[in-house]
Amino acid sequence: MKNDVITIDITDLTFEGFGVGRHDGKVIFVADTAVGDRCEVLVMKELKSHSFARLLNVIEPSKDRITPDCEVCRKCGGCSFRHISYDAELELKKRTVKEAFSRIGGFEVKVNDTVFDNADGYRNKVQYPFAVDGNCATFGYYARRSHRIVEHDECKLQDLIFTEIAEFCGKVCDELGIPAYDENNGFGILRHAVMRKNRKGEILLCLVVAKKDKKLEILAEHLKRKFDSIIGIHINVNKKRDNVIFGEETFKIWGEDVLNDTLCEKIFELSPRAFYQVNAVMAEKLYLHAKSLIPKKEDGNIILDLYCGAGTIGLCVASERDKLCGVEIIEPAVENAKRNALLNGRNEENTLFVCGDASVGVEECKNKFGSPDTIIVDPPRKGLDRAVIETVVNANPERVLYISCDVATLARDCAIFAEFGYKTDEATPFDLFPRTGHVETVVCLSRQTQK
Ligand code: SAH
Repeated sequence: MKNDVITIDITDLTFEGFGVGRHDGKVIFVADTAVGDRCEVLVMKELKSHSFARLLNVIEPSKDRITPDCEVCRKCGGCSFRHISYDAELELKKRTVKEAFSRIGGFEVKVNDTVFDNADGYRNKVQYPFAVDGNCATFGYYARRSHRIVEHDECKLQDLIFTEIAEFCGKVCDELGIPAYDENNGFGILRHAVMRKNRKGEILLCLVVAKKDKKLEILAEHLKRKFDSIIGIHINVNKKRDNVIFGEETFKIWGEDVLNDTLCEKIFELSPRAFYQVNAVMAEKLYLHAKSLIPKKEDGNIILDLYCGAGTIGLCVASERDKLCGVEIIEPAVENAKRNALLNGRNEENTLFVCGDASVGVEECKNKFGSPDTIIVDPPRKGLDRAVIETVVNANPERVLYISCDVATLARDCAIFAEFGYKTDEATPFDLFPRTGHVETVVCLSRQTQK
């Protein structure tokens, strides 16, 4: 009952960082708890199937517990697992992948240990929202499930330079009279500062604004004078009153058009809007693993890379002999992919990047190179449409490499692949987003029956 104080044992942890316990047969979610905690909690909200409670007192602590090293982690929606050891988090991620396959997919899969690297300072990209606080601009990350900004002095997931740039940006905006955007009424200008850093430490900054303003050029002058690491400043205009960060129009006001980074000894050019993994070190490990799943062939493979973004996976896994076709829906990313192919010594004979829906991929690949023997899919969280799965299996590839950022849709889709004779060999979680409730998973589906 609401307002009851009860004692419960925490037996599981969700990806949002809620401990899960049971009382009188009902599931209770408690923030800031860990598996193995026995605690006293106050029931705050009671729903039909479950309740939410607040932690009052830890009676017996879990062995996984650690003292969080971030002052705002309880309020900020960025991290879910700052209160448990990193080992416990890696284990949880592995277990979650395993359970998703049995619960959602309806079958058991061998899950390898979660592959990991540094748990801190790994993000190469940040997207800071700005808001109005009195007469000043403020920035930070949103509280969980809200648009309330939680300010911070530093964020452990990223380089301090990002916070310094955002702070300076807000200060200069206040001085110049460039107001931060107010979502509540649509007034103001500065909406987001989106920054991406390469391994050399160079930063491309994109300021998302509600409308153009001459003073933004003065702001850019200040920024480039203060920070040597900024190599280019772009403006994106977003006039819409919704939650989408970017608007349609992007233009450069100073410096470089693109940022260059290296992955798997390949060079990648990235425009401000191109998708690129935020954790380059781990992305490299993931791509090398994907490469290892494609057997080398004397006369080369035909590889189709669906949802290819700036072409990174395909270009990292394809050898000189392989034919590579990539399909991506965002035009500027396709332009990046084409350019990246050239930068890495590929040509029109062996490479094709197409702008379009993933469902046209097989057709495009067949027309140019023939039927693919390996199809890589790396879709957004919602996973694959059944129509895409059908075009993929109809192409009859030897294997499908599924790279997923959502285990639930991955398990669902692998069950559909199974109906068509593609077996999930094993799954490997990659911790691209340590301390957060996200995990990337790579699965190799192999063809069981010859058509
Ligand atoms: N493979 C890339 C990008 C993966 S993110 C990498 O590793 O960097 C998923 C990509 O799918 C995004 O670039 C997104 O723009 C693209 N996308 C989303 N819906 C799509 C669709 N229906 N057809 C093709 N691409 C799509």
